[in-house]
Amino acid sequence: MSSTDKHFCRFCGTELEHTFVDLGDTPLANSFLSAQQLGQPEPSYPLHARVCSECLLVQVAAVVPPEEIFSDYAYFSSYSSTWVEHSRRFAQQSIRRFSLDRQSLVVEVASNDGYLLRHYAEAGISVLGVEPAANVAEAAREVGVPTEVRFFGEELAHELRQRGDAADLLIGNNVFAHVPELNDFAAGLAVMLKEEGAVSLEFPHLLRLIEQVQFDTIYHEHFCYFSLWSAQRVLEHHGLRVFDVEHLPTHGGSLRVFADHAEVASHRIPAGRGAPARAARSKERSSRNAHGRWCRIAPAL
Ligand SMILES: [Zn+2]
Repeated sequence: MSSTDKHFCRFCGTELEHTFVDLGDTPLANSFLSAQQLGQPEPSYPLHARVCSECLLVQVAAVVPPEEIFSDYAYFSSYSSTWVEHSRRFAQQSIRRFSLDRQSLVVEVASNDGYLLRHYAEAGISVLGVEPAANVAEAAREVGVPTEVRFFGEELAHELRQRGDAADLLIGNNVFAHVPELNDFAAGLAVMLKEEGAVSLEFPHLLRLIEQVQFDTIYHEHFCYFSLWSAQRVLEHHGLRVFDVEHLPTHGGSLRVFADHAEVASHRIPAGRGAPARAARSKERSSRNAHGRWCRIAPAL
């Protein structure tokens, strides 16, 4: 690819003219080398994050097809005991908050090895995982989590709806940032979600990346870097309304965003939660006003 190629925002289509940070050519993360490969040159790919001047989505171009990265994935969520505990707590909280019971269906996109859905299944709630990595999905099935081995998008969501699956709770933890076809993914969420259901998405917070110069969280699998503002714009474009947000300590500082169908707006903003959400937006706004600063991060690394 030549440096004169144009790049366009994967959400709004605007030409990307501003560099967020250019890390040059780097090898793929999580692609571990065999002993035989150590003496050979390792393929490397451009790792150049750009920011859209229209929607402020920070993104890297998909230089490697997702099939190459995710079809045989080395990351099993259950290997991390802190992540398993984080997930167990979330399952318990969400069962109470959304009054989930034996009539409910919880769907997780990028459900990995069933680290999260197993907690709902143990509570007698129906679950369905969607996971493109066959080796990881097999581990999920072994712990009783039925799993579709597919990439999630609008087409799969329609297929699942047609066979009667619709999510009361639709979860996407650390997947929203990993999808190159962002609009197809967000459209799929809206299709998959029951009329009065809720979406819960967790993703690393761009503001933390900027404040703490977490340049090492930029890698080829991580296509988008969201602020609350940019995530909200993407979801709203697909008919989903954000009704709550939480700050999380995971992955250097993440957001958990809850959304529902905008037309139905069936979930109320919890008392006391409006203030933190307003504060988060206000802090992001001051960073946006300093937009020029984002483009000057690279020399600071
Ligand atoms: Zn854009």
